Amino acid sequence: MNQFKLEPWPQDITDEDIITDLRNIAKSIGSEYLTVKQYEKFGRFDPATAKLRFGTWNKALTRAGLKISHRNSLPRAELFENLERVWMALGRQPRMHEMRKPMSLFSGDVYKKRFGSWRSALETFVKTVDSSPAEIDNYQETDIQRHRTPRNPSLRLKFKVMRRDNFKCKLCGASPALKPGLVLHIDHIKPWIIGGETVMNNLETLCEQCNIGKSDLPMEEE
Ligand SMILES: [Zn+2]
Repeated sequence: MNQFKLEPWPQDITDEDIITDLRNIAKSIGSEYLTVKQYEKFGRFDPATAKLRFGTWNKALTRAGLKISHRNSLPRAELFENLERVWMALGRQPRMHEMRKPMSLFSGDVYKKRFGSWRSALETFVKTVDSSPAEIDNYQETDIQRHRTPRNPSLRLKFKVMRRDNFKCKLCGASPALKPGLVLHIDHIKPWIIGGETVMNNLETLCEQCNIGKSDLPMEEE
């Protein structure tokens, strides 16, 4: 195809260039997904450039709105992270049919294929959450000068705090489960700025309104 055209320097290629080219090639071969080999053959750029730019080949495909060709190669952590986000956005356990764009990056079928059934995906997920590091649950107030935890909670910790709080604002009880679109925040009970740690027992779930009302130092959301 482009034998006589030199590939541009990677730094001159924009993300948009790559995304557009991925879409064009997929379209030209009449496919909703693209393998590295196919792209190697027909694409304008080195597939390595796309991988480097977006992290993984599948992430590049996702950014281009294409399907992921090797679903089983998706890391479990990525599937669970997505599930965590959807669960928090809904404020309750997601149903399989709700796993779709734009709320979910992966369809319920992806989970079903990977875990055998939607139910077993949920069970495996909950087990993983329950067995994730215990140090985030227990906090002894020993040193208020130095923080031993980062300011922003990990996605997993956010999920655990929200789950403990039943995905409801601790102050007013608002929940995305009752009011779709409502966004819950994680708030430090003892503010980070005065030494509060990012641990389970110093974190609480608040809705946006209550969080703004509570403090003039609202937590930074990612
Ligand atoms: Zn509230």
